[in-house]
Amino acid sequence: MTDMTMQEYIEQAEKDLLHTYNRFQIVLDKGEGVHLYDIEGKEYLDFVAGIAVFALGYGNKEYNDTLKNQIDKLLHTSNYYYNVPAIEAARAFKKFSGMDRVFFTNSGAEAIEGAIKTARKYAFLKDGKTDHEIIAMNHSFHGRTMGALSITGNPHYREAFEPGIGNIKFADYNDLESVKALVTDKTCAIILETVQGEGGLTPATEEFLKGIRKICDEKDILMILDEIQCGMGRCGYPFAFMKYGIKPDVLTSAKALGCGVPIGVFSMTEKVGSASLVAGDHGTTYGGNPFVCAAAAKVIEIMERDKIYENAAEMGEYLAQKLDEIKSEFSCIKERRGMGLMQGLVFDKPVKDIINTALDNGLILINAGNEIIRFVPPLVITRSDIDKMTDILRKAVASNE
Ligand SMILES: *Cc1c(COP(=O)(O)O)cnc(C)c1O
Repeated sequence: MTDMTMQEYIEQAEKDLLHTYNRFQIVLDKGEGVHLYDIEGKEYLDFVAGIAVFALGYGNKEYNDTLKNQIDKLLHTSNYYYNVPAIEAARAFKKFSGMDRVFFTNSGAEAIEGAIKTARKYAFLKDGKTDHEIIAMNHSFHGRTMGALSITGNPHYREAFEPGIGNIKFADYNDLESVKALVTDKTCAIILETVQGEGGLTPATEEFLKGIRKICDEKDILMILDEIQCGMGRCGYPFAFMKYGIKPDVLTSAKALGCGVPIGVFSMTEKVGSASLVAGDHGTTYGGNPFVCAAAAKVIEIMERDKIYENAAEMGEYLAQKLDEIKSEFSCIKERRGMGLMQGLVFDKPVKDIINTALDNGLILINAGNEIIRFVPPLVITRSDIDKMTDILRKAVASNE
């Protein structure tokens, strides 16, 4: 098999894998630092990081050694027994996030499912009713499982799979009045991303986030922040909500939490943890196993010790400045927005061709919707990586004008 060409692999893949993605026409082989290599040895500067996952870059020795050691020791136990990596990862996550109780999952979508169940159970224990409502946001993205899909504010993703879980209402992001208009005595949770990812790299305004916190406090509604993409250092803080001086009741994380191994988490305050899910209410076979938890504990240790989020803040500022420069040079670019190393350039046309031209020239970029290029590089990038990226991007935009 090793002497197959890239094109042959792609043809084979298209016969065997269910076609749920329009994939870029490269077959990736290995990574080193902030670079990826395809099976023909071509090098790419990576500004996607596996969609905001590989925060530490590829081939971090300390991280890799931790995984290798854990493989030789113990991969899996089930959650009927304690394991040391899960105990340590839970303590590390609590310290990093400021939350009190954690449940480890296999993915982001599953973390969202857990958050929804937590909110419904919390409300059920208060009034014994089963008709509680959740307020979510238009243009949100929370994942592809049925519960997560039901609160995802993109009708195009949901339509063919209706009916969803029901009793979901959608408000407009950064429009507090639209949220207030939907609150009833049945509302059990308001869920949002602190910075919308797929929906267009939009940070919450301070007024919006604090306003939601206030509504939730007044009515004992749970404020759920989905930081699966924007958390874990990406926005210049351990978690993006920390910029706003508020705290959610329930917090979800995944993506960079494992830096490549499948792990997510839903976490909550002690108040919620002591009045919601109990033994028998929720479970998972793989979730929180020693392998993925050893990875997560190490990721958090490195992020805290090396202040990776501070680099994200500093490089995020530099990236924003460079993107603003490019924006001023091209009339097809309408806006630059984002927070830290989670940035977007909004065009007045589809960005597919620009991304493909960049790829030909050794730069990996991804879109968010049809008309936005998203920049979510590893958090360890340097100024010179950003300079190199900007050069390739500038040429790609120019050649597709
Ligand atoms: C990616 C993402 C999810 C879903 O995570 P998966 O691991 O793909 O299931 C949920 N919410 C946000 C904000 C995301 O970016």
